[in-house]
Amino acid sequence: MNKFEQLGLNEALLNAVADMGFETPSEVQEKAIPVLLAQDTDMVALAQTGTGKTAAFGFPMIQKIDVHSKRTQGLILSPTRELCLQITQELKQYSKYEHQLRVAAIYGGASITAQASEIKRGAQIIVATPGRMKDMISRGMVDITNIDYCVLDEADEMLNMGFYEDITDILSNTPKEKSTWLFSATMPKEVSRIAKKFMADPVEITVGTKNSGSQNVQHEYYLVSGRDRYSALKRLADANPDIFSVVFCRTKRDTQKIAEKLIEDGYNAGALHGDLSQNQRDMVMKAFRTNQIQMLVATDVAARGIDVDDVTHVINYQLPDEIETYTHRSGRTGRAGKSGISMVIITKSELRKIKGIERIIQQEFDAKKIPNAEEICEIQLYHLASKIKDTEVNAEVEGYLPAVMDVLEGLDREDLIKRMVSVEFSRFANYYNKTQDLNQPSASSEASSGEGSTRYFINVGSKDGYDWKTLKDFLREQTGLDRDDIYRVDVKESFSFFNSDAAHTEAILQLFSEFKMDGRFINVEISSNAGGGGRGGSRGGNRGGGFKGGRKRSFGDSDKRSKGAFSGKRRSFDGKKSKGHSTSAKKSHRKGPKPKW
Ligand code: ADP
Ligand code: MG
Repeated sequence: MNKFEQLGLNEALLNAVADMGFETPSEVQEKAIPVLLAQDTDMVALAQTGTGKTAAFGFPMIQKIDVHSKRTQGLILSPTRELCLQITQELKQYSKYEHQLRVAAIYGGASITAQASEIKRGAQIIVATPGRMKDMISRGMVDITNIDYCVLDEADEMLNMGFYEDITDILSNTPKEKSTWLFSATMPKEVSRIAKKFMADPVEITVGTKNSGSQNVQHEYYLVSGRDRYSALKRLADANPDIFSVVFCRTKRDTQKIAEKLIEDGYNAGALHGDLSQNQRDMVMKAFRTNQIQMLVATDVAARGIDVDDVTHVINYQLPDEIETYTHRSGRTGRAGKSGISMVIITKSELRKIKGIERIIQQEFDAKKIPNAEEICEIQLYHLASKIKDTEVNAEVEGYLPAVMDVLEGLDREDLIKRMVSVEFSRFANYYNKTQDLNQPSASSEASSGEGSTRYFINVGSKDGYDWKTLKDFLREQTGLDRDDIYRVDVKESFSFFNSDAAHTEAILQLFSEFKMDGRFINVEISSNAGGGGRGGSRGGNRGGGFKGGRKRSFGDSDKRSKGAFSGKRRSFDGKKSKGHSTSAKKSHRKGPKPKW
């Protein structure tokens, strides 16, 4: 008997489960399904996104519904159109062998009459956003006075979005005897209020620690002054050339503005917020899904529908008003068993919020430093070198080779490499040459990057299957050092950095002096920069790491981003001229090979 059979699921569902390739129930499914199948009870379930909540309420609902009746028996309320469609799709898959079951999706921005006629044909389950649902009730297009089950999915998010009134309105149209199942990632006051008001003696289940975020996510904050927020964001992106991120802003206006600035500065960015048309949003999401956008700037509400599994970083450009929302944000990364990093750009006055968030996620933040010029240049240089190594030779180059060889005659290998790398590198070096340290002094952030610390370079990275967690484990295992002795592990695509206290430097270098793994030398060297901008201080020059003056030459230029290290060259082979700055997400595209994550 497999694990799903043990939960009490019927044949039709078990077959669908097998088709979908689910092997074991998730924790929330294991806890909720048997209870909901066996009793007619209310339930409050606390579980993070990505834990399989849809099946936790979907399986029991599908199994309990009387498919011989066309009456609407189950109502699922969900915060956004995207989630609504996602749930509907999932339910349809779950019920593929329940041939008479109909599921209807009810959401705004689409024809209400078409939706009404779908319900009329007999939908036993309705999945709806609160706004459209209320609308249809008031127009007499749905009848939910006889439902048996009502699910409030992502309840905290619905309330965050201001649906309290709509929800209470809708629920007041439902019978008292029904069962209400509330699913939420967090339990803020408003959610308990709804639970108290509409539920009787609910069974409570909690998955993982209450309100805690994914354990796969590392949380970091960067203390800067308010006017440096944007420069800080750019540096974080530059220090992570393979970033694939969601950047959160508080308002639609900021979201749009930051996205536009990033695009103008040559990043593969796009905006996602409620003022865009559905069509525009779909296009941005498509570009993001296909990795054409590396930095998706989004509002909290718009980001709810994002179901992309390989987001490497979440960046809180501003903290949310409600700190509970932070878990939703950071939950966009570290999904599907992968690890992720959630970064917060923060000013002194907001620092106290970090404590509150730590209590909710039950994890501590690392106080990190915005990378300084040397660190970014070093990263970009190594990145460039590995890009050269990995670049597939373009066959078109062949024909020009003799002439090119002529031009380059007399340069030996080392000279050639130096010059080649400099072509790209100088742009970074020049750009960052006169920029300031953006970090605000703070007592707590000195701890891990002070004088007694050594920063190392190691020639393995995410390409070799490492993330910060597994690389740290590897280093600890090899060196025999303690958990806290290896820190600031930053994994890039083909190389990484980490720190140890200076006391361990000799031992670490010794250990890795002739270290071979899988037939390959693992090389560890002291990184030339102190790491994390801990030293150096202000270098004067441009205010706030500005990018004014000669923006065209800055590496941020859209045609010359590191991603396309050699695209400039290739273009001239093609005889095409560089275009100006692109101003829409469409035009901005990744030029290098797709990242391996
Ligand atoms: P949540 O609502 O908690 O955010 P979902 O119900 O959307 O999570 O599930 C996330 C993904 O995991 C979906 O693609 C779903 O098909 C998949 N999934 C759900 N349950 C299982 C399971 N037991 N085994 C494997 N995959 C599952
Ligand atoms: Mg869900």
